[in-house]
Amino acid sequence: MLQRILGFFGDDLAIDLGTANTLISVPGEGLVLNEPSVVAVDSGGAAVLSGGCAVGHMARQMLGRTPGSIDVVRPLREGVIADFQLCETMLRYFIRKAQPRRWGLGPRVIVCVPGCITPVEKRAVFNSAQRAGARQVFLLSEAKAAAIGVGLPIAEPTASMICDIGGGTTEVAVISLGDTVASGSIRVGGDAFDEAIVDYLTRNYSLRVSAAAAEQLRIDIGSAFPLPDEMSEEISGIDVISGLPRKATVTSEEIREALADPLSEIVRVVKRTIDGCTPDLAADLVDNGLVLSGGGALLRRIDRYLAEQTGLPAVVSPEALSAVARGSQLCLEQFARWRRVLESSDDDIY
Ligand code: ADP
Ligand code: MG
Repeated sequence: MLQRILGFFGDDLAIDLGTANTLISVPGEGLVLNEPSVVAVDSGGAAVLSGGCAVGHMARQMLGRTPGSIDVVRPLREGVIADFQLCETMLRYFIRKAQPRRWGLGPRVIVCVPGCITPVEKRAVFNSAQRAGARQVFLLSEAKAAAIGVGLPIAEPTASMICDIGGGTTEVAVISLGDTVASGSIRVGGDAFDEAIVDYLTRNYSLRVSAAAAEQLRIDIGSAFPLPDEMSEEISGIDVISGLPRKATVTSEEIREALADPLSEIVRVVKRTIDGCTPDLAADLVDNGLVLSGGGALLRRIDRYLAEQTGLPAVVSPEALSAVARGSQLCLEQFARWRRVLESSDDDIY
C-alpha cells in the first residue's frame, strides 16, 4: 500500500540503456527520450558540459566536427561499460532530461542491461541510477524486456524465445512461466557487423573505410540471406597502399560474405540456447518459433537466415528498435503483474 502511495511521486522511468541508443519511456505516456548513447569528452577524459549539451544527440552532432581536444565516445561498448564515470554522467543527463518535473521523491526506475555484464557492472549501473535520483532501481535483462515488449506470452507455461541483436551484444533467451529457462549473450551485434565489413574491404579492396561508412553500407545494401534483387553501392575510402582517397563499388553478395562470421556466431548462441532447454520446451519452440528484436535485426532477411540455420520459424518484430523500452514500460505500468519477473532472480535484480 505504502508502495502504491509512493508510486504517485514523480514519473517512473523505464530505461533501455543500449550500447548504441538509450530509450526512456514513462508509464501511460510512452517514449519520451531516444538518443544515441554517446558523450563528448575533452582531452582530459572529462565530459564536456557546456550547457549540459554534450550527451546524446548533441554529442553525436559534434562527431567529425570536433576540434582535436574534444572526442565523442560511447561509454558502453560491446555491452560492457567501458567508462563508468561517463556512463553515469550520461545516465544522469538522460534521466534529468526525461524527468523535468522533479518533486517529491525520485522516480522508480527500471534499467535494462545486457545479460553478459558482470556483477560489478550491474552494481555500477544500479548506483548510477540511484545517484541520478532514482528512489528505487530495478535491473531487468534486455532479453526479458524485449520478450515482454514484442508481446510474447512469457508468463504462460510454454516456451517463448527472443533474440535481441543490438549494437554491441546479442541477447538470446527462452522464457517460460516468467522465468528465463535458457539464455545466451554474446558481444556480437551491429558493431561487429561493421568491423567485419571494414576488414573485408581492407582485405579485398585495399580500401580503408570508417566504421560509420561501413554501417551505412550495411544499412543500405546489407543482408543475411540472398536477396531477390541483389544490390550494389559505391563507397569511398583511403587506399591502403597509396594513402590516397579512392572509390569502389561493392555488391550485397560481398557484404553478405563479409558478415558470414558474426552471423554464424549469432546462430551458434541461438543453437546453444535451444540446447539448454528441456525436450518439452524445445518442442514448444518448433511451433512458437523465435522472435527477433533490436536494431541489428533490421538486417535484410535475417529472419529467413536464422530460420534456415536453426529449423525454427523466425520473425522480426515490427517494433524491433523499441521492444526493450516498450517491455520495461509495460513492467512499470503493470507493476503488480510483472513484479515477480522483476524480482524473480538474482540475475535480473540487484
Ligand atoms: P543497442 O540496444 O545496443 O543500443 P539498438 O537496438 O538500438 O542497439 O540497435 C543499434 C544497431 O541497429 C546499430 O548497429 C545500427 O546500425 C542498427 N540499425 C539501426 N537501424 C537500422 C536499419 N534501418 N537497418 C539496419 N540496421 C539498423
Ligand atoms: Mg538494445
